[in-house]
Amino acid sequence: MKKVTMCCTTCPNSCEMTVTIGDDNTIADCTGNTCPRGLTFAEGEWKDPVRLLTSTMIRITDAGQIPVPVKSATPIPRRLMHDAMEAIRKTPLTHPVALGDVLIPNVAGSGVAIVAARTVN
Ligand code: SF4
Repeated sequence: MKKVTMCCTTCPNSCEMTVTIGDDNTIADCTGNTCPRGLTFAEGEWKDPVRLLTSTMIRITDAGQIPVPVKSATPIPRRLMHDAMEAIRKTPLTHPVALGDVLIPNVAGSGVAIVAARTVN
């Protein structure tokens, strides 16, 4: 058994939790959470943590390069962040974009889209 400290980010309370990992690599105990969502957060964090990805794509125009803020439509697995950033860096963007446009439909095989976070004409 081992103990891991986690901060639940589900709500602004930011409960600091102590999570006990059993010999079978699953959560055997969780303390410090003040509601059941803390345990759900801890299970996700332990199995396959996810994060929202925010970045910038470069739109190529005749006049030069324009940065376009982008984000993942939903959180993606942290283990795919590097591949997702590579996809964002390598994907050409040559057309005007509107807020919410899907720029990469399935980034890094995550099943999550990268969308425009701002309109850039
Ligand atoms: S455990 Fe519950 S109260 Fe604490 S941060 Fe998570 S969601 Fe909020």
